[in-house]
Amino acid sequence: MGWNEQEAGVKAAFAALRKRGVMARRRAACCGGCSGALMGDLLEKHSEKLGAVFTHRQSEARFHRPYGAHSLMISYGARKGGDTKAIGMMLFEALKAQGVVCEWDGNPDTNIEVKGC
Ligand SMILES: [Zn+2]
Repeated sequence: MGWNEQEAGVKAAFAALRKRGVMARRRAACCGGCSGALMGDLLEKHSEKLGAVFTHRQSEARFHRPYGAHSLMISYGARKGGDTKAIGMMLFEALKAQGVVCEWDGNPDTNIEVKGC
């Protein structure tokens, strides 16, 4: 699995999650904190969404330059009162379905890591 396949797989997984009612956004904001706050606000406004999966610009920049040197960290969360681990499982399964090489320990407090190559 090369970097291009990893990148294409993440893109396809995000598209698949959107079809399943999850808000999926790459480069949501500058860092993890700002992105989490933004996606939380968006979930409040879009009550039909189950949850959110997202990346932030710093992690994307490291994933993209130099190609393959660093992992991409993907965050996820449920709407208030929802099951964050279930959103994590949906994300992990969507990535695996695309053949993306990734790691997750199943802990809802841990990001899913898409391996660089
Ligand atoms: Zn920030």
